[in-house]
Amino acid sequence: MSDPIKREGLREKFWERLPLKNLAPKEWEALCDGCGKCCLNKLEDPDTGEVALTRIACRLLDNETCHCGQYDIRKQLVPECIVMTPDNIAEYAYWLPATCAYKLLWEGKALYDWHPLISGDGETVHKAGASVQGWTIPEFEVDEEDWEDYIIEDTA
Ligand code: SF4
Ligand code: SF4
Repeated sequence: MSDPIKREGLREKFWERLPLKNLAPKEWEALCDGCGKCCLNKLEDPDTGEVALTRIACRLLDNETCHCGQYDIRKQLVPECIVMTPDNIAEYAYWLPATCAYKLLWEGKALYDWHPLISGDGETVHKAGASVQGWTIPEFEVDEEDWEDYIIEDTA
């Protein structure tokens, strides 16, 4: 399966050397490991602010490739979809999954060896079991009131 995220022509090890706000747009895009976890529906406790991930995926997520089925027009089809930027990462990092490259770098941590930027292979995120490949359920198959039955552990 080819990696739709372009990772060529980027500054060497930019993720280790440069602050997020100094990244070129294509470097910012290349940071995404393609795991698909941010496209899982989340449940947030209104009292504690605690966020739980579920296996229930956004209707546009492809369960095999772990990519958005309509990336270019996703905001038109799913208005609540959040586009991550260097300016809003601080606001949203709390609900991003523990393995998300944006969250890791924002927290001052290193990327995992399976990240495609390090491995040079877009498949390693799946081979490491770090993606949602093969285990999501489309949101239209489960009533929202039952989503709490599908909460998963968010492990790094
Ligand atoms: S969780 Fe982070 S690294 Fe994974 S697909 Fe979403 S934005 Fe990309
Ligand atoms: S619209 Fe696409 S990018 Fe946004 S949450 Fe859904 S699958 Fe993910």
